[in-house]
Amino acid sequence: MEGDKPTTVMCTVVGMDQTSFCYRVCSFCERTLPDNPSSLCKFCNFNSTPNSNSVSSSKRLFRLLISIATDTKVKMVICFDRAARVLFGCSADCFLDFAQIHPFAAMTASKVLQGEMFKMTLNKPKNGNAQHLRVATVVPLSSSFRPVIEILREKYGERSPRAHFYQGAVS
Ligand SMILES: [Zn+2]
Repeated sequence: MEGDKPTTVMCTVVGMDQTSFCYRVCSFCERTLPDNPSSLCKFCNFNSTPNSNSVSSSKRLFRLLISIATDTKVKMVICFDRAARVLFGCSADCFLDFAQIHPFAAMTASKVLQGEMFKMTLNKPKNGNAQHLRVATVVPLSSSFRPVIEILREKYGERSPRAHFYQGAVS
């Protein structure tokens, strides 16, 4: 059907949902896990790492809800990890670590993205119950675009973020 073909739009980001922008998955098989941090992957837990109490058996991936304005309308689209990394310039874990230290990081991220123009390819969700179009690819239109994390690090005065993150994080 013609309606199921991906569409390419030029759009401006109007905003981002700051309350929910990522989800937990198993770091081995990437199956979605419940939000409860103590829940482990049933599959990998039994099959591959029976004796390990690894704390890194889950990781987070982006799932951003953003509103975009095209030349005809404003709509909400959902942006999964691969596309979201283009916007953020880092992994969801990396951003959340940053947000732990800087509580307003998500709000600032939303502000940084607001008004940025992108070329996006949008797909109809495969799951018929999903209500938002999915962002398949995103390309910044401005040559001066910089990923969110770079701008945040600059704003918060972290010019050598690596050193900052790993000091103290290593036990
Ligand atoms: Zn797993």
